[in-house]
Amino acid sequence: MQDWTVEDSCELYQIQGWGKPYFTINSAGHVAVAPRADKGGQIDLFELVEDIRQRGLSLPLLLRFSDILADRIARLNRCFNQAIVEYEYAGVYKGVYPIKVNQQRHVVEELVEYGRAYQFGLEAGSKPELLIALATLKTPGALIVCNGYKDSEYIETALLAQRLGQTPIIVLERFQELSLVIEAARKLNIQPILGVRAKLTARGIGRWGDSTGDRAKFGLSASEIMEVVEGLKRADLLPSLQLLHFHIGSQISAISVIKAALREAAQFFVELGSMGAPMQYLDVGGGLAIDYDGSKTNFRASKNYNTQEYAYDVVNAIQAACKAKGVPVPTLISESGRAIASHQSILIFDVVGTSGPNIAIPSPPTKNEHQILQNLYETYTQITRENVQEAYNDASQFKEEAASLFALGYLSLEDRARVESLYWGCCERILGLVRELDYIPDDLADLEQMMASVYYCNFSVFQSAPDHWAIDQLFPIMPIHRLDEEPTARGTLADVTCDSDGKIDQFIDLRDVKSALELHPLKPDEPYYMAMFLNGAYQEILGDMHNLFGDTNAVHIHLNSQQPEEQGYLIEHVVKGDSMTEVLKYVQYDHEALLESIRRETEQALREKRITLSESRLLLRHYERILSGYTYLTNHPKTEPALL
Ligand SMILES: *Cc1c(COP(=O)(O)O)cnc(C)c1O
Repeated sequence: MQDWTVEDSCELYQIQGWGKPYFTINSAGHVAVAPRADKGGQIDLFELVEDIRQRGLSLPLLLRFSDILADRIARLNRCFNQAIVEYEYAGVYKGVYPIKVNQQRHVVEELVEYGRAYQFGLEAGSKPELLIALATLKTPGALIVCNGYKDSEYIETALLAQRLGQTPIIVLERFQELSLVIEAARKLNIQPILGVRAKLTARGIGRWGDSTGDRAKFGLSASEIMEVVEGLKRADLLPSLQLLHFHIGSQISAISVIKAALREAAQFFVELGSMGAPMQYLDVGGGLAIDYDGSKTNFRASKNYNTQEYAYDVVNAIQAACKAKGVPVPTLISESGRAIASHQSILIFDVVGTSGPNIAIPSPPTKNEHQILQNLYETYTQITRENVQEAYNDASQFKEEAASLFALGYLSLEDRARVESLYWGCCERILGLVRELDYIPDDLADLEQMMASVYYCNFSVFQSAPDHWAIDQLFPIMPIHRLDEEPTARGTLADVTCDSDGKIDQFIDLRDVKSALELHPLKPDEPYYMAMFLNGAYQEILGDMHNLFGDTNAVHIHLNSQQPEEQGYLIEHVVKGDSMTEVLKYVQYDHEALLESIRRETEQALREKRITLSESRLLLRHYERILSGYTYLTNHPKTEPALL
């Protein structure tokens, strides 16, 4: 314990792997955020959370770092520009941000602002997202890529936006959209800018592998693309066809898959050109992955390439294909969502309690205690590295025997309790030895999880990490303080919903996945703050209101460069989480009607003298206060802000 250092914590939680260049651990043993990466400035995350709580905001809390968003956009553009310069590519890169990844107004507005210098545009995948894009994007020359299923209202709106000076590109995702586009263009007399989404044979792997291939939901097959070209020709609209789009799924962990897709798409591109379409844009979609576990491998929670390599590959593939056919190279577009939005958000939550196996420090049983206790104790004393498996089998068998003896009335409750503690004592000792083994026998693999404590956490997996629940996605999770202290406990996390799926028992690990996380034992009267990182993409909007836990509080933090000697950051926006009233309204309960009903019941109870006047006052006051309050735990001793 004495010689545990922050370096040990760095290594344990892999923060260098997934956190670089934004997250580290400082000498105080707190997680520190460097929102501008290597450009200076650091915020102590623990102090920031304490500060925000002093201002009266409760946990769970979503922190969004605007500077990280700015850095992500700058970085992506830098990588593409570097590739363009190195390969002497005769075109430019103009990325777009797919709104679906995080539609929060503040996020989209910031993205547009930080992207202005790079003519960064927006991608819409639906009508409401198109509305956001049209009203938000004010950058001359930036693109609006219109994806998703479209009706004529969508298409006409996109076309009319040209009159406002926007550059909307309508990507045909289904063959049926062709006739809608031709009709709208005629009706409005506006020349559309069109793209086609190709269904590639190159397949993603893992979770989103089905986004491409013959059975993919979106995209046109080769023969459909031929028909589109013919149809456009007949309508005199072939000059409109300028873009080729593909998207092979999200979180593509293997660069080989990306390379294969690029080669195939590049051929589609040059072929379309040779058929007379004035091709100007290649849109490589999303898929640029995040290294959630820091392992730099093609594991699903990682990626075996970096953004610079990705940019090199995009530039190289299309340049080679164009050169071979002697056609001009296109403007490059990518639709990276996850890679832009993930790092900016951190979910902070507190632990409200723990429970775990009741492990006794076994004392030898006296002579007249039950034989089973003698046996178990003997097993305990004889555990060695060589016989862990055997010892575990014995201990388990004695525990089962004890349960039978108890059921038959031969063992007292007190003895059974002793057996349990002794059993857990054996398991703990066995686990200590198993952890040092290179190879863990199958039977003992579950021991880690069995022995782990449950840390009860004040957040909802369904609201804040839906992808963990739905598709087993891994996010880096760790305490944000006490990191100069050895985390002697192991735990899994349970959320505050009453759903048994509301838990986290899969954690990042350099080798595969681990089933329990190293944590610190709680201290009385001291909060224990934990954070889930890299969850700025998809989680907020996919989150649901299971058990009526609503949106969390969210705070936008901006590094204060004007006065670095002062408090190092500005709190730019505070977006209050849902109140109980808001969440209830969503399921059609009216605040007033609820109160009225309780008031009537209380009056009745008063009349019948079932409740006293002061009790009724207290009940109504509670009811009313809860209605206007936060949906999460707020007045638990461990969660109450110190000054409020
Ligand atoms: C979801 C989606 C994206 C974003 O993908 P990421 O992997 O998050 O970058 C881009 N383009 C299309 C068409 C999408 O459906």
